[in-house]
Amino acid sequence: MEKTQLEYRGEILYSFQIDNNINKYKLYIERVKGLALYDVIIIGGGPAGLTAAIYACRAGWKTLLIERGAFGGQAASTDLIENYPGFPEGISGPELMLNFYNQAVHFGCNFLTAEVNVLQSTNLTGKIKNVETNVGTVQGKTIILATGAQPRELGVKGEKEFRGRGVSYCATCDGFFFRNKKVAVIGGGDAAVKEALFLANIAREVVIIHRRDTFRADKVLGNKALAAPNIKVYWDTVVKEIAGERKISSLILHNVKTLATISEEVEGVFMYVGTQPNTAFLADHNSKNEQGYLLTDENLQLSITGVFAIGDCRRKKTRQVATAVGDGASVLAAVDEYLHSL
Ligand code: NAP
Repeated sequence: MEKTQLEYRGEILYSFQIDNNINKYKLYIERVKGLALYDVIIIGGGPAGLTAAIYACRAGWKTLLIERGAFGGQAASTDLIENYPGFPEGISGPELMLNFYNQAVHFGCNFLTAEVNVLQSTNLTGKIKNVETNVGTVQGKTIILATGAQPRELGVKGEKEFRGRGVSYCATCDGFFFRNKKVAVIGGGDAAVKEALFLANIAREVVIIHRRDTFRADKVLGNKALAAPNIKVYWDTVVKEIAGERKISSLILHNVKTLATISEEVEGVFMYVGTQPNTAFLADHNSKNEQGYLLTDENLQLSITGVFAIGDCRRKKTRQVATAVGDGASVLAAVDEYLHSL
């Protein structure tokens, strides 16, 4: 049994007892006996991957889900999810993801904690596809890529130097360290505004720095932030530098309209300038766009037969838990059809 847990404010928010029932030894034995062949191999254990696992197992397919870290993806580090249907008061991301995971366990999904090495298209084109991981190779008749996305770096001076010492990409994880302090949130999308509202309950003051004069975020969220007494917004403003000695002391800000440059004192900076897909491991460049998002057809299939992509790692307009779940459920129709055709 392996344990994955998420701690927040000194409390254990969730703790997955992972029955890592496929270990290196078992993989070896299975390979020798020719048993390491799965109908469905899902790579990535966020909402999309876990949903696909539930559907695949319920359809009777021998299913393996490979995850390199904690289950639940980005949703597991979201404090409160208010727009996932079925929870009128909202639900904590870790709790929702734990439920997804338990449901996949309930329907008999096999789990492997491992890192997938480079996936060469030559290993994927045949009827039996090989997935090499750091603990051994597994084989699948179909592969579902559900590797999600991760926060994008802003790329300004001071960002790398102060990472983990004031620069953070996760308010749920690090907000606690800024109790009664002044912090900045960079970005104007859903994530930035949502996390600014979360931080406003902990920090003394939150300044949102946004490069345009309107939020990209949903209006309801945006209006909540504008009404919060301890949230201030700098519109049309970009960060030039994160400055400080041992710790962050200020941000150098530049107004793109007035061209004024000012210094704003803050002790923490939370980056929410979008995400980038976790697709570097897929060597097939024809299946990605220039940002690295995976290109799928209407069946969520890549240009390689029997290989599918779901959730935030694929090119699409909306990236929410509900849409990831939609992908995870929808992909099974095509997976089913393909497996029956073999
Ligand atoms: P996003 O929607 O792409 O927003 C990124 C924000 O960062 C935008 O405001 C963008 O500015 C800004 N930005 C990007 N590059 C920048 C740069 N170089 N310098 C300064 N600002 C920059 O990303 P997200 O907020 O992470 O959301 C990703 C997806 O997850 C979206 O589909 C979102 O709806 C979803 N999501 C939903 C929720 C929810 O509760 N419903 C919560 C989190 C995320 P511009 O606006 O000028 O482009």
